[in-house]
Amino acid sequence: MKRIILCLGVMLHLTSCTSQNKSLAQQPISEEKTAQPKNIILLIADGTGLSQISALQFYSEAPVNYDRFPVVGLIKTSSSSELVTDSAAGATAFASGIKTFNGAVGVAQDSTAVITIAEEVSKIGWDTGLIATSSITHATPACFYAHVPDRDLELDIALQLVNSDIDFFAGGGLEFFRGRWDGLDLVDALGFNGFKMNTSKLESSEETKQGFLLAQDGMPKMLEGRGDFLPKATQMALDQLSKNKKGFFLMVEGSQVDWGGHDNDADYLITEIIDFDKALGVAMDFAEKDGETLVIVTADHETGGFTLAASESGYETITPTFSTDSHSATMVPVFSYGPGSETFGGIYENTEIYHKMKKLIFPK
Ligand code: MG
Ligand code: ZN
Repeated sequence: MKRIILCLGVMLHLTSCTSQNKSLAQQPISEEKTAQPKNIILLIADGTGLSQISALQFYSEAPVNYDRFPVVGLIKTSSSSELVTDSAAGATAFASGIKTFNGAVGVAQDSTAVITIAEEVSKIGWDTGLIATSSITHATPACFYAHVPDRDLELDIALQLVNSDIDFFAGGGLEFFRGRWDGLDLVDALGFNGFKMNTSKLESSEETKQGFLLAQDGMPKMLEGRGDFLPKATQMALDQLSKNKKGFFLMVEGSQVDWGGHDNDADYLITEIIDFDKALGVAMDFAEKDGETLVIVTADHETGGFTLAASESGYETITPTFSTDSHSATMVPVFSYGPGSETFGGIYENTEIYHKMKKLIFPK
């Protein structure tokens, strides 16, 4: 408060000295006001640390879209219960700004529900979308709309998607919506709620709400022919959501970089990060053209203790190597572009991703 008064004092003095003598109201109060984004695209490459991104740079034949981001930060990823997080606690940190226990989806340490960023922006009229190459009920996407104490409760999570404010979704997980033991057909229920549902292919419609459930559980691997699902779904989501002039929030997950890491399968991992990078390109192309969209790219944690070790034959070649078939506790990078992106530099806790977004959307 003291500083503001001091500044005003200086400004009063300066204005009184100028011949123009502009009124105080015309003077900029602060030069440091952060630009406010109209839209936010949050892209999460599950299990992606620096070595995964470096592998992309070494093995991609196309220019790497990660390289387009002007601001880079690092996040600490531990959960409340363990030093090494899982994807549920990690995504709850992004979606709701709290540290919780591994396995928790949108609930605090005491298992009570916590509001998510997608729910908060829905209340001010934004549209929201979720895309994943896992089931849409898997831990990472679920944390943006569901509240359950155990990530394995995918039938409950599916039911909560039906009752959520989400306006676009694409991924796998059909088995949690249709053919359930309780006899509920949630594909029909989503249709009742105004969704144009598609369970066979990624085909654009002019409906205001679209839902795609294109595999029983996770989507196929890139190595098994998933094709352009992720970049194409990202484009379709942007086409739909950007019709809302109030704004939108879109989360896009490259779910299977993590699975390549768990399998200690470098080909699996690298083909998945190359695919995720294409979705990044779609998001960046949109944001550059739009000028009012903040793009944030990060990961919930690193998987596999992946390294790009020098080959035994020498430093000319790389042998991708893993140190674990689980997650690791290493910091992971954050990349950002667009209005407010400058606030994402530095080293901070994963929960700050939420708090930084919140501050930009709802400035005091
Ligand atoms: Mg995930
Ligand atoms: Zn994992």
